Amino acid sequence: MAKLVDEADYVIVGTGAGGATAARVLAANGASVVMVEEGAHLRPEERPAALLDAMRLAVRDMCMQATESRVPMPILQGRAVGGSTAINSGIVWRLPDDVRADWRDRFGLGALVDDDALERVFSAIEDELEIHPTEPAILGRNNALMAEGAKAMGLPGRAIHRNTRGCEGNARCLQGCPAGARQSMDVSYVPRAIADGARLHTGCRVERVILKRGRAVGVEGPGFSIRARRAVIVAAGVVHTPVLLHASGVRHANLGRRFQAHPGVAMVGRFEQPVHMGFGAAQGYEIPQRARGFKLEALALPPEMLAARLPGAGAAWQRRLADLGSYAQWCGQIRMKAHGRIRRVFGRPWIAYEPTREDLEKAREVAVTLGRLMFAAGAVEIFPGVAGFDEVVTSPERLDALAERPVSRADFHLVASHLFGTTSAAADPAVGVVDPSLAVRGAEGLYVMDASVLPTNLGVNPQHTIMGVVWQAAERLAERARAAA
Ligand SMILES: Cc1cc2nc3c(=O)[nH]c(=O)nc-3n(C[C@H](O)[C@H](O)[C@H](O)COP(=O)(O)OP(=O)(O)OC[C@H]3O[C@@H](n4cnc5c(N)ncnc54)[C@H](O)[C@@H]3O)c2cc1C
Ligand code: SF4
Repeated sequence: MAKLVDEADYVIVGTGAGGATAARVLAANGASVVMVEEGAHLRPEERPAALLDAMRLAVRDMCMQATESRVPMPILQGRAVGGSTAINSGIVWRLPDDVRADWRDRFGLGALVDDDALERVFSAIEDELEIHPTEPAILGRNNALMAEGAKAMGLPGRAIHRNTRGCEGNARCLQGCPAGARQSMDVSYVPRAIADGARLHTGCRVERVILKRGRAVGVEGPGFSIRARRAVIVAAGVVHTPVLLHASGVRHANLGRRFQAHPGVAMVGRFEQPVHMGFGAAQGYEIPQRARGFKLEALALPPEMLAARLPGAGAAWQRRLADLGSYAQWCGQIRMKAHGRIRRVFGRPWIAYEPTREDLEKAREVAVTLGRLMFAAGAVEIFPGVAGFDEVVTSPERLDALAERPVSRADFHLVASHLFGTTSAAADPAVGVVDPSLAVRGAEGLYVMDASVLPTNLGVNPQHTIMGVVWQAAERLAERARAAA
């Protein structure tokens, strides 16, 4: 097969929240752009309902990517055009003010998170991606029950703000929206960049950024080589960006370090009235608990995953299975304090991450709160999913025992999909792998524009912040190129 050879001003590796936004901004500014993506470009009609098929087509390592620890934790990421946005729920939150102040004061990123500039960019993205609260008509019972529980417990909840156009409420966001309603990058900024002249190469796994005399001049992988006239922008995500930079010869004491996350726990409950998680926005209702360090969200499960989550065996399990339409699932994302590290071992990422004791106590608090919320909403029984504790709980009082139980890492089935750090931005060269313009220190013409530049976790869903930060950095890159021309 002939080798693919191409050339552009900017070569962007990865088409997720960061890469697609960089492409959208640079192409709109008249630059020539090539996007290189390891995964496939799946059309909405090619999105399978079956979970295993969806995982095979669009999820990194079929959900088997996990931390290398005594109790592994799955680390979920998309591997398709659109990156993780192609399998996410489209939940949108602006960068919280306290995080913005922390990045300005502690990391010297004031220019990157300037209030006025970010306000303009967030508004533009919200307009273009049609961000709005989930409509009551497509809320569905899984979300509506959480709203009822929040009201009963006096917790401040709200309909989730999502980036959707014509959502049908068929609860399949995590398999990829079959209606093309969710405005993930594969149906929004990638096609928009292409309409502005950008080119997209799929099925191309970049193995190396080519650095010549300290300057990035292109990328290469099996069967392709692409030259960059101005810059290479790496946006391969929190796990793969540091690995790719390391493989390309970039060295910095913090490369791969400062890995942070919002690991989550989930709870299933049975209700007397039908719930039918298969109808409604996959995630349509949330209860922010920022001061407590977590956020609760309704999260519809595909039927095959729900079946695997039901307790019991044999006839008892089959009886529960017959009730498949009466279960709800909600989860909590925790702003954990732990810092981990990603290293390149035998060419692959090796992910070290261990929640702290305080993090595990928070996981327990989330499990207890979710359980109480379910009973407040009318659940007749709940399945906490905490190892060593009751498989089935039938009264809220029993949750007191869970609240007082000593925590152990082995008790919680944590899953992380909000990832941060690993090539952190900072003004101090000793701290930041990239500087406040997102340029890689020690290399010319090499930038990182994805979640790995965010120096801390946020406590809210990250895609909007990633896009806002990248948008600004890409705009400045285009301005500098214009000034130099
Ligand atoms: C299941 C799930 C649900 C989520 N829900 C939400 C949500 O509702 N709201 C929210 O704000 N956030 C959500 N997130 C998180 C959000 O999607 C991510 O934070 C965001 O997409 C990260 O953007 P990124 O550009 O850093 O990386 P990604 O979006 O992961 O994109 C990285 C891209 O790089 C490609 N790539 C990697 N290595 C290479 C290589 N060597 N060569 C070529 N290409 C490569 C990958 O295939 C991928 O397409 C969710 C994430 C997951 C996994
Ligand atoms: S709920 Fe269904 S229609 Fe709506 S955005 Fe998600 S997958 Fe698309």
